[in-house]
Amino acid sequence: ETLDKGLEKSKTSFLSKLSKAVAGKSRVDDEVLDDLEEVLVTSDVGVETTLKIIERIEARVARDKYVNTEELNGILREEIAGLLSETETGQAAELKLPEVDGPYVIMVVGVNGVGKTTTIGKLAYQFRMQGKKVVLGAADTFRAAAIEQLEIWADRAEVPIVKQNMGSDPASVAFDTLQSAVGQGADVVLIDTAGRLHNKVNLMNELSKVRRVMQKVVPDAPHEVLLVLDGSTGQNAFEQARQFTKATEVSSLAVTKLDGTAKGGVVIGISDQFQIPVKYIGVGEGMEDLQVFNKYEFVDSFFK
Ligand code: GDP
Repeated sequence: ETLDKGLEKSKTSFLSKLSKAVAGKSRVDDEVLDDLEEVLVTSDVGVETTLKIIERIEARVARDKYVNTEELNGILREEIAGLLSETETGQAAELKLPEVDGPYVIMVVGVNGVGKTTTIGKLAYQFRMQGKKVVLGAADTFRAAAIEQLEIWADRAEVPIVKQNMGSDPASVAFDTLQSAVGQGADVVLIDTAGRLHNKVNLMNELSKVRRVMQKVVPDAPHEVLLVLDGSTGQNAFEQARQFTKATEVSSLAVTKLDGTAKGGVVIGISDQFQIPVKYIGVGEGMEDLQVFNKYEFVDSFFK
């Protein structure tokens, strides 16, 4: 129910565009497919993934000879769900922490402004509400504002934060954070990292140094590298996914601001193209407005 509300814009626009495309038509023909292609592209599904979906539907139309436009929703829903990488939690959209030795370490990456700090804050709050011990690490030391913002979220979520001054070594902050987390017997650590993309080599070096140094404290850290993308930025989000997956190993995605966009299709395209599961979606600015992604719920919310 909350998902439907959060995705209201994506939903209405997708469905209304789709019904316009099939209005007055009883069978799925080339014209309907052309219109559908346009609906998918303008919903930010991305050209590659759109073509994949269209080809699959074409194949079905060729096989079944006659496909009623009324069946199109159902077919699309199946094809789209089939493209989305399985989330680790499968169909149960619950916030879960895998069992590991020591704290579960999540390194959070993404460019400034996408909602990285907010996502960390929401996760911290939700994990704490589950009774988990959470520690935040302010390893985005490039901007003073980044450290301050994370502190505000640490206060809100009522979890401890480890920080140093602006300009200090991010790897050193990450090291301190893990030491503190281990000392406190923490369950989960969220490490914020700098979000500069303009210098790719620096970014790559910085992230690998943070990884290396964390492993001195927790040998298999980070257990997860969560890339945060702004779902309302369309092709920019694709480009960021491309850059970050080149710079470091990304294991999961959080797509934010899906409440503010009519183009939730970015979730489908990015998950398909990069074969990285979308784990969380942001549907608002509040602490509760982060949901564990469930592809069935997500796809259904488009077609309800
Ligand atoms: P950062 O620079 O990547 O750390 O970005 P912030 O976490 O500071 O977020 C940037 C802005 O986006 C803030 O105004 C947030 O409140 C807002 N924001 C983050 N996530 C969401 C979301 O899911 N929905 C909406 N509507 N706003 C969001």
